[in-house]
Amino acid sequence: MSSTIQRIGVFTSGGDAPGMNAAIRAVVRTGIFHKKEVFGITRGYEGMIEGDFVKLGARSVGNILQRGGTILKTARSDEFKTAEGRKQAYDQLRKEGIDALIAIGGDGTFTGLHKLYLEYQLPSLCIPGTIDNDIAGTDYTIGFDTATNTAVEAIDKIRDTALSHNRLFFIEVMGRNSGYIALYSGIAGGAGAIIIPESETSFDKVYELLTAGEITNKRSNLVVIAEGSKIGGANEIARKVAERTDYFDIKVTILGHLQRGGTPTYFDRVLASKLGVAAVEGLMNGKTDAMVGVRDNKIVYNLFDSVMNRPHEIDMDMLRIAKILSI
Ligand code: ATP
Repeated sequence: MSSTIQRIGVFTSGGDAPGMNAAIRAVVRTGIFHKKEVFGITRGYEGMIEGDFVKLGARSVGNILQRGGTILKTARSDEFKTAEGRKQAYDQLRKEGIDALIAIGGDGTFTGLHKLYLEYQLPSLCIPGTIDNDIAGTDYTIGFDTATNTAVEAIDKIRDTALSHNRLFFIEVMGRNSGYIALYSGIAGGAGAIIIPESETSFDKVYELLTAGEITNKRSNLVVIAEGSKIGGANEIARKVAERTDYFDIKVTILGHLQRGGTPTYFDRVLASKLGVAAVEGLMNGKTDAMVGVRDNKIVYNLFDSVMNRPHEIDMDMLRIAKILSI
């Protein structure tokens, strides 16, 4: 593994996700293992523009593996979307001698990195870190597993209180335009119906399904709705059902940001560790302008053009499974 890279800059950007710290730790320690210097860039592209860099040692990333959030903080930077902002960022990186970058974030982060690469040819790789699991080219993003487990735990608790007759709960989970968290937490939580943006459905179809539940005389019914639902969010759907029937005692819970926090699961820690090592070693092997991911449990490097602006396909058979199991 021969490489001219000496100083790697690592940063987190966009929405935070549990497991980002494990990825930072992996990048720092792998860099040091291969005799590179690693600098943390705080607050994503904002810190890059301001030259907010801190040299990280193996010990400075101790005791963060199990912590949610990101020790480097994250931010959204409008300035970086401009050519002048990126020039300023590049000048700061040069001043510090940083000659390669590893970003941990979502598609916006990757887009910014790609632009910087096109303009300045700085070797750079992106690690997918977002709870939404909405990035093509990787089976899982860091944080998705933890967020889904958090949603399942919440659904289980709601079910405990829902066991009085005819109670109907609408639970809205995160995911932006992706239905991954809703689909997986819905199946794991035994939802009576799951509404995700990827499936073609209508309010009438959902209503039909719910009133069929009336016939089966379930003691309670839970509907999990992705925040990106095309037929409205939990509040709207609940309101429409209430307008048509007074059969149910309807409750709505929007899980919101609690899904972003918490201790990362073993799965996210292992994923973050693998991707962190692969990112550093990929850079050293000449990979650039790409996102490191896992496909069928193997590390892959996806060029920007091969994954951006493409949906992360969802296995629609999972919806069928959910339907069969909800009778
Ligand atoms: P998440 O999926 O968790 O929201 P993300 O990485 O997609 O994460 P964004 O807010 O979309 O989050 O992007 C993070 C940052 O990346 C932005 O604040 C901006 O600085 C940079 N970025 C996003 N889009 C672009 C773009 N088109 N050009 C340059 N930089 C961009």
